[in-house]
Amino acid sequence: MDALRRRLNTRVHTARMRARSVRSGRATVHHNKDGVRLLSFCSNDYLGLASDKRIIEACCRGMTEYGVGSGAAFLISGYTPAHRALEERLAELLNRDRVVLFSTGYMANLGVLGVLADRDTHVYCDRLNHASLLDGVALARARLRRYPHLDVRHLEKQLAQQTNETEREGSRDTVIVTESVFGMDGDEAPLRELAKAGVQAGCALVVDEAHSFGIVGRCGAGMCYDLGLTQEEATAVIGTFGKACGTFGAFVAASGDLIEALIQFARSYIYTTAPPPAIACATLAALDVIRDEEWRREKLFANITRFRALSADAGFSCLESRTAIQCVLAHDDARARQWSRLLFEQGIDVRPICPPTVPEGQARLRVTLSAAHEASDIERLVEALAQCCRTDKDNPAHNDL
Ligand SMILES: *Cc1c(COP(=O)(O)O)cnc(C)c1O
Repeated sequence: MDALRRRLNTRVHTARMRARSVRSGRATVHHNKDGVRLLSFCSNDYLGLASDKRIIEACCRGMTEYGVGSGAAFLISGYTPAHRALEERLAELLNRDRVVLFSTGYMANLGVLGVLADRDTHVYCDRLNHASLLDGVALARARLRRYPHLDVRHLEKQLAQQTNETEREGSRDTVIVTESVFGMDGDEAPLRELAKAGVQAGCALVVDEAHSFGIVGRCGAGMCYDLGLTQEEATAVIGTFGKACGTFGAFVAASGDLIEALIQFARSYIYTTAPPPAIACATLAALDVIRDEEWRREKLFANITRFRALSADAGFSCLESRTAIQCVLAHDDARARQWSRLLFEQGIDVRPICPPTVPEGQARLRVTLSAAHEASDIERLVEALAQCCRTDKDNPAHNDL
C-alpha cells in the first residue's frame, strides 16, 4: 500500500491527478456537469445520435423483447437474433465474409491481437496507437516494435531488416497495427500504403476504425471500405459503436476463418457477458439513421471546415487534421489546464489532454466537433480560444510556465 500511496502522491504533486465530474441528463452538446450548464466539445458522439429519439425507442423495444441483460456469454446463451442481425448487417456494409461483436472496443482489440499474435510474432505499431492496441500486444506477449507516427518508409525499412533476421532465425508471423483516424491527434493513417507494405512483406494489417466508423465512406462504412481495401489487405477491421453510432459495443470484420478463430480463441470474447441485445437493436437503428441522414455527416464536415477557417483567422495553431478531432497545442500541462479553466468560466467544456495520454511537451486542448453543433457554437468556441491565447500573450508569466 505504501507503494500505491507514493504513486498517488506523485500524481498529486505533478498536478496530474485525474478527476471525474458528474454529467447529468442526456448526452448532447449542451450538458450539465456538477450542476453547471456547458456547451460541450469533448464527446465522441460525432453525429449527435447518443440521445436520438428513434434510437432510444429502438433500445426500449429491444428491452421489452429481450429484457435488460443478455444473461450470459455469447457462447452460452447470450447470443440473440438482434446480435446476429447486427453482425450480418455489418458484414454486408463493410464487404467482409463475417463480423463478430465484442462487448467493447478495448476487448475487441485484446481479442484480435491475442489471436493474431503470440510470443514469436513481431507486431509493428504506429507510435500513437491507442492504449488498448498496446495492451493487446502486451497480453499476447508478442514482440512490440513501434514505428514513427504515419511513417510508412520507416516501417518498410524495419520490415526489410526483420526479413533478413528471420531468414536466419526461421520464419515468424508479423502484424502491422494502426488506427485509421488517430484519436488524440485527429490525423489519418496512410492506409493504402500500409496495406501495400503489409501485402509485400506478407504480414497481417489490423485497422482500428473507432474514430472513422459511421463517418467516413458510403453509409459511414469506414476508411478501409472507402479505400476499397480487401480483407486480404486489411486483415481485421475493428469498429466501435460508442462513438459515431452513439450506442455501445464493438465489432471485428474479417475473413470467415479469422472470425471463427476469434469466436473459438479470443478470451475477451469468450469469458465475458454478451452486451445487452437491446443495445444491438439501438445500434441497428443508428445504422439506419446514418444511412438515411447523410446531412449529419455533411454538417459535421461543414463544422470542421468552419472551425479550421475561423481558427486560422484568429491566429492560433491547430494540429493538421481533417477530422472531428481538432487539437490546440499548449505544449505545457499547466497552460492546457489554464485554458480549459478559462473556457469553463465561459460555459464551454473542452478537456485538456496531458501526458501520459500524449507525449511529454504535447499537452493540448482536444476539441471534438459534432453534427449537433451549430455554426454559432463553433464561433463561440473560436472566440473563447482566441481569448485564451491572448491572455497568454498579455501575461508574460505564462510564457515560461
Ligand atoms: C475508444 C477507442 C477504443 C475503445 O473502444 P470502447 O468501445 O470505448 O472500448 C479503441 N480504440 C480506439 C482507437 C478508440 O478511440
